[in-house]
Amino acid sequence: MDVILKGKYIISCKIKAVTGLHIGEGNNSLEIGGIDNSVVKDAEGKPYIPGSSLKGKMRSLMEFAEGKVKENLLVETKKEKDGGIYIHMCGDKSCIVCGLFGRNHGKHTLKNGSESDFTDSVVPTRLIVRDAKLIEDSITEEMKENLDLEWTEVKFENNIDRITSQAHPRQSERVPAGAEFEAEFVVNRLEVDGKDDGDTFVKKFVQAMRLLEDDYLGGQGTRGNGKVQFVDIKILYKDREAYLNAAQPKVVAQAKDLKNLQF
Ligand SMILES: [Zn+2]
Repeated sequence: MDVILKGKYIISCKIKAVTGLHIGEGNNSLEIGGIDNSVVKDAEGKPYIPGSSLKGKMRSLMEFAEGKVKENLLVETKKEKDGGIYIHMCGDKSCIVCGLFGRNHGKHTLKNGSESDFTDSVVPTRLIVRDAKLIEDSITEEMKENLDLEWTEVKFENNIDRITSQAHPRQSERVPAGAEFEAEFVVNRLEVDGKDDGDTFVKKFVQAMRLLEDDYLGGQGTRGNGKVQFVDIKILYKDREAYLNAAQPKVVAQAKDLKNLQF
């Protein structure tokens, strides 16, 4: 396969938490006196949105939207005691999901039990998602007065035992509504075996942004958390020349939100 890099689309924007946002740290050990269910934080102790969380969620939404969640199109990515984790991945060279979000080399076990090898279809992953850093000013002094911790709030959730009616409160940390994060995405424009991507993949990516706004990011999304909005969006394009002679990138589209983005 012949692959040429034609250029890069760079999408920069802010991600605004419209409701509280909980992106958990996973099943890490519980600190003494700590919160049961804390949010992921950077080395400075500030919450951020890991690129992997954004990419994983957008991929999953795109898999459903493109009709790729089918037994013969799902592969096991992680073996777990009580059943593996399946995501869509396939060898179809024209697959828009795998083309944008990537596919892995080697043999895979499909959900239907068969084996498949996608090595022949692997091209460099077009989409790169950066970690999104908290914009500190977005959490105002006024908001801080109502926070339980420096940057976050702690919410109690009750699980009610259906027999005894006893409540089992559980703490959950979340980033408050109104917080904003600085985000950047890169979509590589490739030419594969003489076929130029053009703006196909960057347009698909914008579709994934739209899907995410009507879904949720992080945990407890069906219970009020995780509504996000993309604001102050700018899409730039840098072709190969721009890298050779430091030319200014071209502004492809710009808008205050997705509703107003003409792209
Ligand atoms: Zn695919």
